[in-house]
Amino acid sequence: MKFLAKFLILNILFFSVINLSTKEFDEKFSFSLLKEQCSFGPRVPGTESHERCVQLIVELLKNYVDSVYVQTFKRKVSYSKQKIEFKNIVGILNPEKEENIMFFSHYDSRPFSNIKNRAIDGANDGASSTALLLGLAKFFKENDFKERIDFVFFDAEDGGRINHPDEWFLGSKYFAKNYKGKIPKMAILLDMIGDSDLNIKREINSQIVNTKLYDKIFKTAKKLNKKNFVDKLGFYIEDDHIPLNEKGFRCVDLIDIEYKYWHTVDDTPDKCSSKSLKDVAEVIIETVYDR
Ligand SMILES: [Zn+2]
Repeated sequence: MKFLAKFLILNILFFSVINLSTKEFDEKFSFSLLKEQCSFGPRVPGTESHERCVQLIVELLKNYVDSVYVQTFKRKVSYSKQKIEFKNIVGILNPEKEENIMFFSHYDSRPFSNIKNRAIDGANDGASSTALLLGLAKFFKENDFKERIDFVFFDAEDGGRINHPDEWFLGSKYFAKNYKGKIPKMAILLDMIGDSDLNIKREINSQIVNTKLYDKIFKTAKKLNKKNFVDKLGFYIEDDHIPLNEKGFRCVDLIDIEYKYWHTVDDTPDKCSSKSLKDVAEVIIETVYDR
């Protein structure tokens, strides 16, 4: 009896120490950022809403990483009369260490939609993954993560059209082309992961390029009982990981393309949930710690 009491006390102490040292992913914070981005209006490159989003990402990153820089490039696109200055944003935790883990998201929203002359808010398509990456930056900072993580926010992912196929993935193409660092051990792209009815399947190109990392992620999701990761082969999707993988990143894409409001003006925050952000974040966090 005495022994049992002692054991229980030790156990309580042990768990409270763990709880003190491990801060959880802040889903409320992350979801508030999804909504804040949308409150600016569509984040179409060259607009004030877009610039406000750049400022938001840069200012928040300064709290959670050690180095922040904006990579700019100018070009003319079909949806603007003048050249636009595009901006990729990079935040690095522990930049003195060797490249190790990289997370990617696009933050721009699509200039076109199902309604003529109206851009989309892109709550799921753009804002959700951006909010998640910022939430991850906060998480790893608060947990005093010692390795290097690069958080990369791409501009101009979503400006392509049938007649302008060269206008997709402008940010990631520029980033990949000019990348001089080492290829990280783990590269994960996030896109459209905020849907409240979330079903992430294996995207075919990612499956081909890095089966091992996908296996690890889906196994982790199963271990954590995250039902929104469906361990089946889904679609072949062209996304920002394509230019990265041409450079050798072996990046996998976590994406749920089966979203009713995709590329419509109805892609708004009410279709998204903080639980989806939390579930994806927890799978990523466990994948990182359990390597
Ligand atoms: Zn899109």
